[in-house]
Amino acid sequence: MTEPLLKVTGLTVEFLGRHGTVRAVDDVSFTIGRGEIIGLVGESASGKSTLGLALMRMVPSPGRISSGSISLEGQDLAALSEAEMRTVRGSRISLIVQDALATMNPVTTIGEQIEEVIRDHGDRSSRAERMTRAATMLREVRLPNVDQNLRRFPHELSGGMQQRVAIAEGLVLGPQVIIADEPTTALDVTVQAQILSLLREICDTRGTSIVFVTHDLATVAEICDRVMVMYAGRIVESGTVREVFRQPAHPYTKALLSGLLPLAGEPLAELDTLSGQPPRPEDWPTGCRFHPRCPLGEALDHPEICMTDDPHVDESQPHWAACHFAELQQPALTEEVAG
Ligand code: SF4
Repeated sequence: MTEPLLKVTGLTVEFLGRHGTVRAVDDVSFTIGRGEIIGLVGESASGKSTLGLALMRMVPSPGRISSGSISLEGQDLAALSEAEMRTVRGSRISLIVQDALATMNPVTTIGEQIEEVIRDHGDRSSRAERMTRAATMLREVRLPNVDQNLRRFPHELSGGMQQRVAIAEGLVLGPQVIIADEPTTALDVTVQAQILSLLREICDTRGTSIVFVTHDLATVAEICDRVMVMYAGRIVESGTVREVFRQPAHPYTKALLSGLLPLAGEPLAELDTLSGQPPRPEDWPTGCRFHPRCPLGEALDHPEICMTDDPHVDESQPHWAACHFAELQQPALTEEVAG
């Protein structure tokens, strides 16, 4: 078996708050292969965006990575100094966010923004050569009229064009991994589809891997190879998109899938709806963190083990779910329980 490109082990992120130290990401482990796109999904406050920032070593203060490792081709990013990490950000792992405009300098032209990224990472070629490289990158992400748009300021471009520029900035140094946090959420449906198709093409042609953070399962179905579902700071289910969407093994995943159109050619499954809110990190329940909201636990008359024991998982399996009764999510058995 080939070594994964990125191997995250036991990653934990803590914040110091009014109630003491709370965990936003708790003992998370996963791997990603070259050219693979992993969807990271969950409700707001599930910890998915914090996990994305932790991979970049950009967790805002007073948060910090308190334990775990982020091994990128054997180099542990969690153990690097901030100065060392500055050389890695952009060149080996980069971030694309939802609000592209907010990440750009409003008084610098598009061409200069990208030229600066190249220069700041130690490129000693001439400015003209760096501008040519910026233009080539912008053509690769299919920004229209590159020669004109190079000289424009960020606010003079449409939202879709701004997102293409952000992708060009994220890609120009040839990173192996991109963390894409809701990169298409603010765009209209047509532009969204174009950007998703561009990201897929980048993975296929460059071998770049993407951790795609989103609340949108339809987007995951469209672009991702695998999906990880987060709840209360932990990954509760992981598998290929096809496996997880066809046969979700965790009641939370099943509830999240509610309202989503099935994958092409598959019948619409009977799906649960989910009540209540995800717990805040300082209020995580004991046992399975999903137990106060769990429709399966309710159907099983609230088994004690759900409230006392954290479900253990075998993360080496291609499809796993952190649920004591995951096997009951098989359709035939679920009918029996419901009946
Ligand atoms: S362990 Fe219990 S509460 Fe948790 S998801 Fe499974 S059935 Fe629901």
